[in-house]
Amino acid sequence: MTCIDAHNHLQDPRFGADLPQVICEMQQAGIQHAIVNGTSENDWPAVLALHHDNPSFLSPAFGLHPWRVKTRSADWHILLRELLEATPASSIGECGLDLWMENADLAEQLLILRVHFDLSREFGKPLTLHCLKAWPPLLQALQNTKALPPFLLHSFGGPPVMIPALVKLGAHFSLSGYFLHPRKLRALQAFADIPANRIHVESDAPDMAPPLEYQAPYHREHYHHPADISRCITALASVRQISSQECAALCQQNTRQLFQLS
Ligand SMILES: [Zn+2]
Repeated sequence: MTCIDAHNHLQDPRFGADLPQVICEMQQAGIQHAIVNGTSENDWPAVLALHHDNPSFLSPAFGLHPWRVKTRSADWHILLRELLEATPASSIGECGLDLWMENADLAEQLLILRVHFDLSREFGKPLTLHCLKAWPPLLQALQNTKALPPFLLHSFGGPPVMIPALVKLGAHFSLSGYFLHPRKLRALQAFADIPANRIHVESDAPDMAPPLEYQAPYHREHYHHPADISRCITALASVRQISSQECAALCQQNTRQLFQLS
């Protein structure tokens, strides 16, 4: 069974010296490709370097994550535009809205988000969006902006009732292993109602690990291993009542199409 990791952060320092081995194990586990998401100016160079070292395996995404908005320089959007322009394989992310974090400033987050919207339209590149406890303002922002290229709601845990409106706006939805925790069952079940051509799987490594019992043989003390994605596919397949093979092939086709991978 082969698949694509639609969202991770391989540049995260938690991988440390393990990273070459981790990439090797992802490939051995059947992962054909992965989208590596930057979070701020501080890690964009590391994301770009990973793409340059593994051009056919890792595609870079550049964006300003809501947790990092305070770290931005005055020229952050100029740098972002230059990177997108200079990197044909790039997409835009991770960006979005977060009202779960401490001291969240929604007005500031919306301002930053709109810059990403404009760049997505200008370059015709898909966006990867983060949303925690901010679904009504995100839906409103999406409805109030001019039409966007298709975008990915990564680790989707939003209200199922919003799915039809989000689909209409061009949303795709990815499942991470975190939703295999029993307390997240409702979020997992929401994936039954998403159109087949809009579903994806992701690791979000080094975060969003599945329950411990699903991590073997990739359990690590300090990070969630991105080769762990087959459990996600099995869970998604059972929710949608299709075979794991069918589910893996479907997600792979969707991710290739969304991120314009060859
Ligand atoms: Zn992420």
